Amino acid sequence: MKKPLSLIVIFLIIITLTAAASDSKKPKNLILFIGDGMGVAQVYSAMTSSGFIMTFPAFPVTGFSITYSNNRYITDSGAGATALSTGEKTNNGMIATRPDSTKLTTIMELAKSKGMSSGVISTSQVTDATPASFIAHNASRGSQEDIATWFLDGTADVFIGGGKDYFTNRTDSADLTVALKKMGYDVVYTLADLQKSKSGKLAGLMADLGMPSIKGGRDTNFLADATSKAIEILSGNPNGFILMVEGSEIDWAAHDNDFEGVVDETMDMDRAVKVAYEFAKKSKNTVIVVTADHETGGLSLTGGDITERKATGTFSTKGHTAVMVPVFAFGPGAGAFSGVQQNTELYSDFVRLLSLGEK
Ligand code: MG
Ligand code: ZN
Repeated sequence: MKKPLSLIVIFLIIITLTAAASDSKKPKNLILFIGDGMGVAQVYSAMTSSGFIMTFPAFPVTGFSITYSNNRYITDSGAGATALSTGEKTNNGMIATRPDSTKLTTIMELAKSKGMSSGVISTSQVTDATPASFIAHNASRGSQEDIATWFLDGTADVFIGGGKDYFTNRTDSADLTVALKKMGYDVVYTLADLQKSKSGKLAGLMADLGMPSIKGGRDTNFLADATSKAIEILSGNPNGFILMVEGSEIDWAAHDNDFEGVVDETMDMDRAVKVAYEFAKKSKNTVIVVTADHETGGLSLTGGDITERKATGTFSTKGHTAVMVPVFAFGPGAGAFSGVQQNTELYSDFVRLLSLGEK
């Protein structure tokens, strides 16, 4: 009796020490997934449809994020993403600017100034509110031609998504891809060319405006493959990287009260999370955070059947709602993301974990 017991005690001490060591370890890289409009019901309906085999809902750390903006109880994606990218609550419709329209520094700009690399991936336009809030500054999210010019700042080493028109079909007739190429960007328009690229700077403009939905024919490999390519490029920087990947069209499907679309788009983002997770498991120096900017649709699950992998969704609005959104985290420092936090506190956690300096 004595011997096995002492062995168990030693074993427990080792486990405790290992846990303590891994918890105090800081990550070198951050991969942030934003499921636009992804509340708990969106996640659980996808979990049900998948037969409970999704990647991010199984992450060891979970929490909630409070999403109200500076001027509205219900945020939009501009203020929601600005809170995550700058640590400040601003007014709805604003992109990394304060309510008085002055510029805020984004975490990507901060990372760049410390010698890290950065990237954004989106299934909407790369100039849309969510990715824009990490790269651009504008008091109005609708100014997508101006937002596109911010990509010439070079903050994002990799950007992939829709929105080609804002680069090449502009009211000022400028072709921003000319300047991008001069800066060393490989500018590609197809997934095949994206995968072939050997450049350290990559601009993937995959659609004139938003990319098609999964239902509408978007390649089910696109988001996962784009994430894989971005990680391949960005992980070449020994100083580390920040990558933001957006599952943009969870929000769009929810605005349309299209329940199947919500499930498709949430599962699509999970395929990209799986790619990041495989990388993080191997590299051991990457923290992955999966969250949302707000919930869309007021989705509730009013019926279902586990054996048939079916849920029945009922929407209560065509707009956004105020409910807290879930946070899932994996990797060194993930413990910071447990509990209920302000969306702006997630930013503070990112900055602290990546040693990007005091806020
Ligand atoms: Mg968005
Ligand atoms: Zn929306």
